[in-house]
Amino acid sequence: MVMERFEEFVDPVDGTRWTVDVGFLGSRWRCIWGEGCQGILDEPAEALGHGCCSVGTELLDEEEAMTLSALAATLDPDLFQFRAWADEHGIFEDERRRRTITVDGACVFLNRPGFRGGAGCALHRQALRDGERPIDTKPSVCWQLPLVVEHEADGRARLRRWGRGDRGPEGATMAWCCTEGDNAQVGSKPTAEELADELRALVGPEVAVAIRRWVAD
Ligand code: SF4
Repeated sequence: MVMERFEEFVDPVDGTRWTVDVGFLGSRWRCIWGEGCQGILDEPAEALGHGCCSVGTELLDEEEAMTLSALAATLDPDLFQFRAWADEHGIFEDERRRRTITVDGACVFLNRPGFRGGAGCALHRQALRDGERPIDTKPSVCWQLPLVVEHEADGRARLRRWGRGDRGPEGATMAWCCTEGDNAQVGSKPTAEELADELRALVGPEVAVAIRRWVAD
């Protein structure tokens, strides 16, 4: 188990005081979807290929819902297994448009193992095909995981790893959690480097550089 270790970094531009889990960002965690990820269900379920997409994804606000809706309409059917299904049923769980809908037990955007266009997130696959960064096209929660930012009222902010508690009551019975134990500690470089784009987008360029320097020392 990689221990938590929090260090403080101050953004020289806006003054935000970041408390950051450098224990995790200095570890060798990397996403092992398709390489041993057991998912987030109560039973280990590697063969399903769901990763953390079993429950759809939560959307920040109506703006993010509108962006996702527009993007979904442009997805290539060859890369989007549930194109026809989505055209008929939509992509949102309900009329509030705050969560993606699930199909056969996972997010509508998740292509399943065996799909001829390739398994995995259709948004992610199309971004890579088009030479774009997945973090510029996927919903916030999807590209941020397993990092979580909590902003506090006094101008402080905390960057930590995702954990069971973030799933609410269901988290306690998850068969496995990729930020616990050593199963996903298989990266060839520190997690802060592995997630360099994500880190920069979350904390800003100056703090991202400071964190990467810290873990490199
Ligand atoms: S972030 Fe964790 S749970 Fe999600 S797909 Fe990657 S290894 Fe699996």
